[in-house]
Amino acid sequence: MALVRERRQLNLRLPLPENSERRPRFPLPLPPSTITTTNSSSSTTTITAADLEKLHVLGHGNGGTVYKVRHKHTSAIYALKVVHEDSDTAIRRQILREVSILRRTDSPYVIRCHGVYDIPGGDIAICMQYMDMGTLETLMKNGTKFSEQLLSRICFQVLSGLEYLHSHKIIHRDLKPSNILVNNKIEVKISDFGVSKIMHRTLDPCNSYVGTCAYMSPERFDPDTYGGNYNGYAGDIWSLGLTLLELFMGHFPYLLEGQRPDWATLMCAICFDEPPSLPESASEIFKNFIQCCLQKDSSKRWSATQLLSHPFVRDIELKST
Ligand code: ATP
Ligand code: MG
Repeated sequence: MALVRERRQLNLRLPLPENSERRPRFPLPLPPSTITTTNSSSSTTTITAADLEKLHVLGHGNGGTVYKVRHKHTSAIYALKVVHEDSDTAIRRQILREVSILRRTDSPYVIRCHGVYDIPGGDIAICMQYMDMGTLETLMKNGTKFSEQLLSRICFQVLSGLEYLHSHKIIHRDLKPSNILVNNKIEVKISDFGVSKIMHRTLDPCNSYVGTCAYMSPERFDPDTYGGNYNGYAGDIWSLGLTLLELFMGHFPYLLEGQRPDWATLMCAICFDEPPSLPESASEIFKNFIQCCLQKDSSKRWSATQLLSHPFVRDIELKST
């Protein structure tokens, strides 16, 4: 009861498990068994499901399994995300949404899709570019120390990816360390578009509870207090700020190390507390950059394009030499 009262006071819209986002107004067509993507890296070759042999499991996600696979003829390595035939409708819809976004994107900072397969038996699979270091979350959990210089390199690439997506009216809506892939050259790609949205009009409603609650910006819980006209793009910037903080601190910034998240406490902290900030030891430039991302009022948050001109990421080539 107390929580319900609190939510009313907060002007919170309660998350509906079956919200309209998840219920299309018309049935979604399944992709044909092989689709060649439109992005440049795959324009010359078509990879079919039969070309790929599974090597091993890379990880399990929400309803799907990702395998490392090898092309039988070229020996090229890819990642194959398979959503099983018995997954619930929402999960299958997410992969179709992911496919539709990946087919539109062509950026060095967004994971590439090389093919989509409707496997006999009902599984759906996406063949993606393989990233040999996994996700930023994996690196963090393995004890990688993210220096400011390393974070600046990562941040430049994620921002470039976000600038690309936002300029194509795509909002990611679930940016976090486990959705950013990395390879041994520290090339970084945004992945996981299962809850992303393509904005068809400026005022498209997009304030639904999809994505990971912990990385959601205050205006997603309470748009009237934190920015008025919710545009969605600023939400991705908030998530980027939290992601960078988390990588630098080694734990999720709203929680103490080892503390278990509690949905209601977290939501209240996001809405009522001051945004988390960097420890004293961090540079002033980095602190300022984080402040530009973590403005609670979404209208004061910098855009991806503006942040690319911030000294923390500008002149990145000079910094890495
Ligand atoms: P969620 O369902 O919340 O997105 P997740 O991100 O862990 O969880 P997946 O996106 O299905 O789930 O990915 C599972 C794991 O597979 C990832 O954590 C990552 O380690 C690995 N993985 C996914 N895509 C790739 C890829 N393109 N290259 C290398 N590894 C990958
Ligand atoms: Mg993921």
